[in-house]
Amino acid sequence: NPIPDLLDALRESLVGVTDGQVAQYIPELAHAEPGWFGLALATLDGHVYASGDADRPFTLQSVSKPFVYALALTDRGLDEVVSRVGLEPSGEAFNATRLEPGTGRPPNPMVNAGAILTTSLVDDGFPRILAGLEAFAGRVLGVDERAYESEVETGDRNRAIAYLMRTAGSLRADAEQSVRRYFRQCAIQVTARDLAVMSATLANGGVNPVTGVQVVTRDTASHVLTVMATCGMYDFAGEWLLRVGLPAKSGVSGGITGALPAQLGIGLFSPPLDERGTSVRGIAACEELSARFGLHLMRPP
Ligand code: GLN
Repeated sequence: NPIPDLLDALRESLVGVTDGQVAQYIPELAHAEPGWFGLALATLDGHVYASGDADRPFTLQSVSKPFVYALALTDRGLDEVVSRVGLEPSGEAFNATRLEPGTGRPPNPMVNAGAILTTSLVDDGFPRILAGLEAFAGRVLGVDERAYESEVETGDRNRAIAYLMRTAGSLRADAEQSVRRYFRQCAIQVTARDLAVMSATLANGGVNPVTGVQVVTRDTASHVLTVMATCGMYDFAGEWLLRVGLPAKSGVSGGITGALPAQLGIGLFSPPLDERGTSVRGIAACEELSARFGLHLMRPP
């Protein structure tokens, strides 16, 4: 099978890339090895191909955002969610404080403001979020309690964003409870293999291709992929779509999840980040995968 060989070759061609810096703002992320590098690819017939550190656990961080958005859409419906969280790329960093003038809506669900509001819209709190993300991954997931506690101790910028949304009237739930729920979803532990299956579930119209479970509806899966395409990479979203051509989401632990609708899911893990908080090797690997397999959505085969 050429896919595992190709993943191995790709990993070897990129291990020498040493640009970027591991996130430093909490010890649980700062202790990551810069050399860790895992790649995985899940196809819709339920096969998962992996290379390198594809089974090494790390915290989801912002990669949680699209999947929690899927749960909010399921619980509240598209119209209600859109009335509360915008759909426009912000062109700003993930932790920007700007809200939409007039409505006070956060710009989109992929930046922190939007994610904190989105998480407040999910019914039944964190247990439902964990169960939902487990259904996307197709297995039981743990929470890194120390990473969670560190976020609770240091996450004042996210608190500030939540209180801004309270005064703007867009966040109606309790601010501290909402940020804590957000910190907890960020601390869920996954692997690159999980990220491939999670995106493959979106690519497969909401059905996990490994377990066969319908996690969200077809409509919800397509809404989430659309928002990942326009906003998933923050102020890099436009260049990302040009270079890679796939809906994707990054996180500061070094994870990237990406999907080619109706075809496959990709999971990447490499902790060193660029100045926007995106995995350097992850970007390079996705560009290369897209080029070699002809995955770019805007480029017909
Ligand atoms: N926990 C991080 C934060 O809220 C997640 C950010 C990210 O992965 N971009 O700052």
